[in-house]
Amino acid sequence: MPTDKEVKKAFKQTASKNPDQYYATSVLKEEGFKRKQCACKIFYWTACDAPTCGDPACSGGFRFFGGKTPAQRELDYVGVWNEFASHFKKLGYTPIKRYPVVARWRNDTDFVQASIYDFQPYVVSGEVKPPANPLVVPQFCLRFNDIDNVGITGAHYTGFVMIGQHAFMPPEQWNQAKYFRDIHSWLSKGLGLPNKEITFHEDAWAGGGNFGPCMEFFSRGLELGNQVYMMFEQTPHGPRELKLKVLDMGMGHERNAWFTKGAATSYETTFPTVCKKLFHATGIKVDEKVMEKFLPYASYLNVDEIEDTEKTWNFVAQKVGIETKELREKVLPLAALFSVGEHARSLLFAISDGGLPSNVGGGYNLRVILRRALSFIDKYE
Ligand SMILES: [Zn+2]
Repeated sequence: MPTDKEVKKAFKQTASKNPDQYYATSVLKEEGFKRKQCACKIFYWTACDAPTCGDPACSGGFRFFGGKTPAQRELDYVGVWNEFASHFKKLGYTPIKRYPVVARWRNDTDFVQASIYDFQPYVVSGEVKPPANPLVVPQFCLRFNDIDNVGITGAHYTGFVMIGQHAFMPPEQWNQAKYFRDIHSWLSKGLGLPNKEITFHEDAWAGGGNFGPCMEFFSRGLELGNQVYMMFEQTPHGPRELKLKVLDMGMGHERNAWFTKGAATSYETTFPTVCKKLFHATGIKVDEKVMEKFLPYASYLNVDEIEDTEKTWNFVAQKVGIETKELREKVLPLAALFSVGEHARSLLFAISDGGLPSNVGGGYNLRVILRRALSFIDKYE
């Protein structure tokens, strides 16, 4: 049996040869989008003849700070979910409450890492009925692979809310065009984005033996979400259509609010009151001029993607126009302050859902962020 990675690669080729069969191209065409191929080989859909696919690496980083957001509606953090839930209710979805972030119903993971985790394995496999169908959910998730990026890139979190749009349907009731039209209507009416500011990527997804096409959506270099259509399963005799097809759209709650505000970092939109309190308590001040120049390049310092940290700091400092040492002195205390707020928030959710910092399994992850926050407090207090 091929691995998920091989399945994804092969299916992506199949799907891009027959886009009309696997993507909601009728809706895209109706909305005035055209299909193009980027230099990075990705097939994408644009309504303004955009020259690249819109991925930050191809389009030159985030471009929505400082009054440049193209969103015509400004939503605060809580407002995003309230608006999203009422928008989708009108479209026939039931908004449900989040599940605990401690994944007690699963034995393969300690924490919920995506909204679809709520429904794995038994709802997705068809053995248990979903709580509503279709549904939307604001699911708090924990992921610990990006800890060192928290505070620095302005976009990374250990704890975040994934807004999920899910449907679990037999093939005869599956309506991919509707699911796609619904999420597009959130972008255009919910966020107030004109079509020329949205780029859709054709992609494929594979996991746990299932696979299908997916569409990622970007604006101004920021990936807002990804709509996955789990439609097939891999068998020893080749691919087979699933008896229960699953819609798995995941969108970053924090990113939606950040994007419509066009704020410098997403932390100040997600927990503004906590930021204010921490600024007051520490006396740390933001050098607006430096930060304005730094933030478009902040994503370059993503530690997962860079090989030579020192070289990258030097490169970014050059772009900002100050010495590397000075840039670090401006950025690191701020990164520490945001990390303290971010880690405290993750711990608050985990502990109130029954998790505890310890020396094993998921408890160890909680201990790592608790220690990281405490060490920043020691260093900068
Ligand atoms: Zn590209």
